[in-house]
Amino acid sequence: MRVKQPSYYPSFRCSAESCQDSCCIGWEISLDSETANRYRRVEDSLGERLRKAMQVTEENETLFRLGLDQRCPFLNPDGLCDLICQLGKDSLGEICREHPRFHQWYPGFREDGLGLCCEEAARLLLSQEKPLEFILTEEPDPEGEGEPLGFSPERARLLWAARTTGLRILQNRRYPVWERLAMLLSFGGMLEEFLPVVESEAGQDCAKLYTEAEGLVREYASPDRQDGLLEMAGQIVSDSGPQDRQRIIGGILACFSALEPNRPGWPERLEELHSKQALLAGSWEEIRREDSGMAYEQLAVYFFDRYFLDSCWYWDDPMGAVAFCALSVLLLSLLDAGIKLEKGAVSLEDRIESAKNYSREVEYSLENREQLGEWLVEDEELQPERLIWMLTAEEQGGRFS
Ligand code: SF4
Repeated sequence: MRVKQPSYYPSFRCSAESCQDSCCIGWEISLDSETANRYRRVEDSLGERLRKAMQVTEENETLFRLGLDQRCPFLNPDGLCDLICQLGKDSLGEICREHPRFHQWYPGFREDGLGLCCEEAARLLLSQEKPLEFILTEEPDPEGEGEPLGFSPERARLLWAARTTGLRILQNRRYPVWERLAMLLSFGGMLEEFLPVVESEAGQDCAKLYTEAEGLVREYASPDRQDGLLEMAGQIVSDSGPQDRQRIIGGILACFSALEPNRPGWPERLEELHSKQALLAGSWEEIRREDSGMAYEQLAVYFFDRYFLDSCWYWDDPMGAVAFCALSVLLLSLLDAGIKLEKGAVSLEDRIESAKNYSREVEYSLENREQLGEWLVEDEELQPERLIWMLTAEEQGGRFS
């Protein structure tokens, strides 16, 4: 089995007791059945603590009952895990052992990554200065690990090629990152038009259409041809007519603050930024003009790489992942604009904190991601032409009027 990982993946180390926002606090800790059965057989006082802490839900899921302040009952006052200290690392269940690593299985292929909800994972991503690379290795086929998604080989080939092209667009440093996001939105619009057609055909026609579609995807993989996507973005901006930047910013903040909050502080922060829209818009413009865009590139690559295949497979919706990627980066840049307004500059630590909070509030909440997906289709303020306008319009310091 081939395995794909971002190049920084093997460097991940949990900062354990030094972590400022431990994943052992505030998260549901579910136990796989093998671990739960093993824990039930542990003897002595630790065994007693384990049995007392485990609860089985109506859905027959075994969880640790969280303690005071939503802490895992085995997280000790020194910030260390009693189970690791007393039983060793190998005693941990899958979730505790793997987090924040995630894995996605495809036929003959596995993709690994590090979720942004962990500050050390966010630090690794946001510290990358070069365009992010992915490494491919071979591993023996494991038995019963994860469920493959079941792509047909043609579909898988096309979607992987489309994702590679999307990543090349996002990493094409000839253009400012804002334009690259607009180009990705144009590319997503193009995929949205032809992917369902390719999928609905059968037999000979299907094979021909796949070849044509792959040709198109290959064409835009070349940095020299990506000007065409920028032209499309420019056309979309001129067709959409004059827009109101503050209104778009207000729409983005209002949409995120209407999601189900997971922790106190997050919706209040968004509402606070919403109340300073005019100042925020000015600060965002400065970021747009002055920031190197490196952090936004890495974030965009993370979101697009992680969600594109699933979005196409489960919902036949390339634009869903593309728009989620662009909107996530826009929201994170607005959070930066708020910090810049208050502190004059945005540090790496600030960016790590924002990325982690965003991931915990939105990315790792299936309910919130689904809600956002609906709004991306229905909400006028979040339509691709508005996002493209926001990213590239001349009055924003961009190239199009
Ligand atoms: S959030 Fe990350 S660094 Fe912190 S305890 Fe969890 S895995 Fe370790």
